[in-house]
Formats: sequence, structure tokens, C-alpha cells
Amino acid sequence: YGYGKSYNSFKIKDMNQQLLVLIKPDGLKKSLTGNILARLSETKLEIVAAKMVRVSRELAVEHYKHMKDKPFFEDLIKYIQGELHDRRKVMAMVYWGDNAITKVRQLAGATNPEEADPTTIRGSYGRITTKGLYENVLHTSSNELEAEREIKLWFQPEDIIVDLYPTKVIEVKMEK
Ligand code: ADP
Repeated sequence: YGYGKSYNSFKIKDMNQQLLVLIKPDGLKKSLTGNILARLSETKLEIVAAKMVRVSRELAVEHYKHMKDKPFFEDLIKYIQGELHDRRKVMAMVYWGDNAITKVRQLAGATNPEEADPTTIRGSYGRITTKGLYENVLHTSSNELEAEREIKLWFQPEDIIVDLYPTKVIEVKMEK
């Protein structure tokens, strides 16, 4: 008898991550929503936020600000705003769970749909337009920093059912 050490039966370090997933206007136009959600459900990750969004130019430009100097930037903005597909909306979601970013990016496939493995979502359903833009049916955050920036850009804290990032209570004064 006495005291000794023993291992906890639970995992000490859970690599929980979260990321933003967008079903882009081409994905909606091609009726791929159910299909993409089914593919992503293979990961066993949890959806902790979801909504349809009409994307303003401001939101589009902020989301893609790292692409500002690319020759296809204006087309990219039109694309995410739905102007190329006559579908002015995207479906935005936050996926959360163990190793979420790697799992989702593996299923999504490479950015260039022609280089993407044909079994991936982009490899199956993406295309390159005659103007050279990659239409790749979904967006997925590429790392934890980008995920945090993007989730905070697309969602308010109260839209997400778990507390992903620290919040503070603020007083909002309405002008009469
Ligand atoms: P990802 O969406 O895989 O994170 P990026 O952030 O680099 O990739 O690019 C944003 C989007 O811009 C891509 O999803 C794709 O629609 C488009 N895009 C990226 N690179 C190119 C390219 N070289 N030519 C045409 N379109 C591109």
C-alpha cells in the first residue's frame, strides 16, 4: 500500500483544431452541398457553426487579401461573390476536432483541381475556367493562424456553439 504513479486513462494532449470551410458558389450551383458534407463527415469532425452568407465585396477582399497582387484577383472576388455562377451565396462552416486542418485538406485535395488527386473533392468536381481561374468548389483554411483569422472574419462568437477563442463582454450603445 501507499502512493504511486499511474497513467491517466484519457489522452493527455488532444490536438483539437478548428477551421473555416466554405462551399463556394460553383459547389452550390453543381448541387454538391450534400455530397461535400457527406465526404467531410468521414472525418468524424464536428460542425460547430454553419450559415448561408451573401458575400459582400468587403468580405471577399478581406478573405482573399493575401491574393491581392495576383492577376486573377478580380476574378477571384467575382467568383466568391457568386457573380460567375449566378448564385450569390456561399455556405460557411466551422469544423472542429482532432487534427481537423490536415484531415479536411486531405479530403479537399490540391488547390489546382487538375493536380488534385481524382478521389478528392476538388479532384472530382473542380475545373479550370477558360480564363484560367481554379474553380475548386470549396475553401478550407490552410493553417491554425489563417483559420483563426478567417473564423473571426466570417462568424460572431455567438454563432459558434463552442468557445474557440477568448471573448470579452462589451457594452453596445445604440444611438437614438
Ligand atoms: P486554397 O484555396 O487552396 O487555400 P489559395 O489561398 O492559394 O488556395 O488560393 C485561393 C483561391 O484562388 C483558390 O482556391 C483558387 O480558387 C484560386 N487560385 C489560387 N491559385 C490560383 C492560380 N494559380 N490560378 C488560378 N486560380 C488560383
